[in-house]
Amino acid sequence: MNGKKITCNACMAHAEKDVRFESRDIEYDTTHVLVKVTCGGICGSDIHYYQHGRAGLSVLKHPMVIGHEFVGVVSEAPEESSLKSGQTVAVNPSCPCNHCEQCLSGKQNLCSTMRFMGSAQFVPHINGGFSDYVAVKPVQCIPYDSRIPANIMAFSEPLAVAIHAVNVGGPLTGKKVLVIGAGPIGCLILAAARSSGASELVASDLSARSRELAQQMGATSTIDAREEVQARCYKQNKGYFDVVFEASGAAAAITSTVDFTRPAGVIVQVGMGAGSVDWPMSTMLVKEISLRGSFRFVDEFAVAVRWLEDGRIDPRPLISATFPPAQIEQALLTATDKNVSAKVLVNFG
Ligand SMILES: [Zn+2]
Ligand SMILES: [Zn+2]
Repeated sequence: MNGKKITCNACMAHAEKDVRFESRDIEYDTTHVLVKVTCGGICGSDIHYYQHGRAGLSVLKHPMVIGHEFVGVVSEAPEESSLKSGQTVAVNPSCPCNHCEQCLSGKQNLCSTMRFMGSAQFVPHINGGFSDYVAVKPVQCIPYDSRIPANIMAFSEPLAVAIHAVNVGGPLTGKKVLVIGAGPIGCLILAAARSSGASELVASDLSARSRELAQQMGATSTIDAREEVQARCYKQNKGYFDVVFEASGAAAAITSTVDFTRPAGVIVQVGMGAGSVDWPMSTMLVKEISLRGSFRFVDEFAVAVRWLEDGRIDPRPLISATFPPAQIEQALLTATDKNVSAKVLVNFG
């Protein structure tokens, strides 16, 4: 097992409004891959740990390295692994148990003891990837072509979430699709749905800036749900869309999905946030609408890496700002302001 140790700097969330880029020890052994992190993307959960000291039900009980969207370069790899020092890799932040019923049925994303990097779900918390170095398992490392910039590959994890949602939605060839909420995940769902053959892609968002981004990422048209006239034409005749992806998590938006969906259509809930909503059950029933949840991803991580690598998806319009890790607090504050930011990146160099 040969315990090893390296000291480096990492972005640690200590408590609400208390994040520090500070020195810490990384302990690892010969079964681990040591990755020099190059670039990371700030996600909603990172913002929540900073702003509220918690993300959903996961509460910070002790300092934790944040970040679950990151890529890097292999610094040391186990001798028996196929990974080589110097190789560029996207790191999958999921560590499912691989023994439980969900894992054995191929649904590792639903693993009841999933150790997800940068998550305070369990105590001790699972440290994330916003660190000069991380020690991970070989299976978490997906090599990619080193000619592709790290700031593109840093979208592997959110794109995996988007591709999983598209897969949950079913075959999209020729389908009319609505995406509600054009943040980074909503926009990546648009791009993935377009890439998967959807014929019409409408994005709904209250922010004009987000609608503009949605257009750049593949929306064929956009609507502001507050504009009755725009919304009504998609709600009349029992609804228009074959598949609706709800990526905002806002209660009013969730309730509206039933009116937008045509009879026998599908609603995929991706956005977190609203715990419970007023649900139009009878309308859903008489239209035989299927409501499906979509959580994280399984094999879609490797698919996302390939799609970014071959240019099938170009996430660059979503990059709003890039900060050095020493300015992690500024980066989190910038990412919090949804009027100016889609994805904020941290460049570890
Ligand atoms: Zn994320
Ligand atoms: Zn499991």
